[in-house]
Amino acid sequence: MENHATRPHHVAVVGSGPSGFYAAAALLDADLDVRVDMFDRLATPWGLVRAGVAPDHPKIKSVSAQYDKTARREGFRFFGHVHLGEDITRDELLERYDAVVYAVGSQTERRLGIPGEDLPGSIASVDFVGWYNGHPDHVDLAPPLDTERAVVIGAGNVALDVARMVLLPEADLRATDTADHALDALVASSVREALICGRRGPREAAFTTTELRELADIDDLAVDVDPEQVPAGIADDDTLTKGTRRNLEILRGFAEKGPDPAAGHRMVFRFLRSPVEIRGDGRVEEIVLGVNRLETGEDGRTRAVDTGERETVATGLVLRAVGYRGMALPGVPFDDETGTVPHEEGRITGRDREYVVGWIKRGPTGIIGTNKKDANETVRHLVADLADRAPAERDDEHRAAVESWLRERCADLVDQTGWEAIDAHERGRGEPHGRPRVKVVDREELTKLSRP
Ligand code: NAP
Repeated sequence: MENHATRPHHVAVVGSGPSGFYAAAALLDADLDVRVDMFDRLATPWGLVRAGVAPDHPKIKSVSAQYDKTARREGFRFFGHVHLGEDITRDELLERYDAVVYAVGSQTERRLGIPGEDLPGSIASVDFVGWYNGHPDHVDLAPPLDTERAVVIGAGNVALDVARMVLLPEADLRATDTADHALDALVASSVREALICGRRGPREAAFTTTELRELADIDDLAVDVDPEQVPAGIADDDTLTKGTRRNLEILRGFAEKGPDPAAGHRMVFRFLRSPVEIRGDGRVEEIVLGVNRLETGEDGRTRAVDTGERETVATGLVLRAVGYRGMALPGVPFDDETGTVPHEEGRITGRDREYVVGWIKRGPTGIIGTNKKDANETVRHLVADLADRAPAERDDEHRAAVESWLRERCADLVDQTGWEAIDAHERGRGEPHGRPRVKVVDREELTKLSRP
């Protein structure tokens, strides 16, 4: 057998969010000579940690320090402003790399499928979250904040994020890295109430405990939970998970206390409510909610069933936070039903050298840390496959040749040094104002900053 121990393996990771970075770290940790090139269609790395996590959660965002460490390791390179399917193709990657890992997340929204869903003022959380976080695709969103009440559809953590962001006191907002265009709009906003509608009951809500608990600490915020929907003793049920019991205790606490009438902002929770229709003349003016009851299906899952009763709520802004959805990558298999890439423990079904990690692998669930275990599973198989195979014959100039090819293809290419320059600039602008950073959102400016 040929000895190929002296030739390194080259792996491309497409996507630089948490799952991409955990995959890169696991690869560099493996007992194998490997080089990792990571690509992102944006100039900036970190995926949802930069463009998804709410700006008032800096502790969660601080996980980026781990990704920085990985990025500085020998054998790792970052290339931003590289769009797979536009600037380069899958075939071209497979020609240049021994394996390709897709870590592209879930870049679009789940649809409600109701009349009025696309009226101006009805906004998917993926767009709204991208807007306040300075994602270049969403900078021009201009959500209508000239309304007293926002209605948030969904009972998950993203629903809580967007509800908090429209209600946070100015001082709290100003201490964050919320993109400046959104900061100004949110400070000037007329929104005083966010009505969060869960289609099932409080037991079935997808919030995590820390996120519910912290609501009590927000200044000038009244939390309004209907005591009839979370009656005394609701948490005393051994069949519930510890997390659900804690959530119910917190919600019951809010219901018992009652909303503070002096507070300037209100977060209202209403369960057993589904959006039925969004109405308005040229923009959102009201939403019709259907009242549900719960039923347990044959599969044991609790389902919301429409009672036929309707409620109409006046609002100028509907934020749809009912989950994200993956998008197909050109040339890569895709399951339209689940919005994910079909795979066996991370090996893409029917493909030899292609792998998936993160939300495009398992769907849009779990917290950031979940991606570590998920990426480790994929990389375990990837490393076993690489160890079984001689890396393609390549000369010493291979890495340099790949970089030249990228520079030729992508006029705005941003490399790791370029990103570090952007990062330093943003942090420097934030420091005098006690903010973690002031984000740059303009593609040309980002490119310029990245140049020596
Ligand atoms: P999620 O946790 O899946 O919640 C989606 C919510 O939308 C559920 O309440 C779901 O109700 C509801 N929903 C779905 N389809 C609906 C419809 N047609 N009509 C009405 N309601 C509908 O999704 P997410 O909030 O987007 O969060 C995604 C993942 O990121 C989650 O794992 C979340 O925990 C995580 N995340 C974590 C943090 C954090 O740790 N701070 C912050 C943000 C996000 P059913 O249950 O009835 O389907």
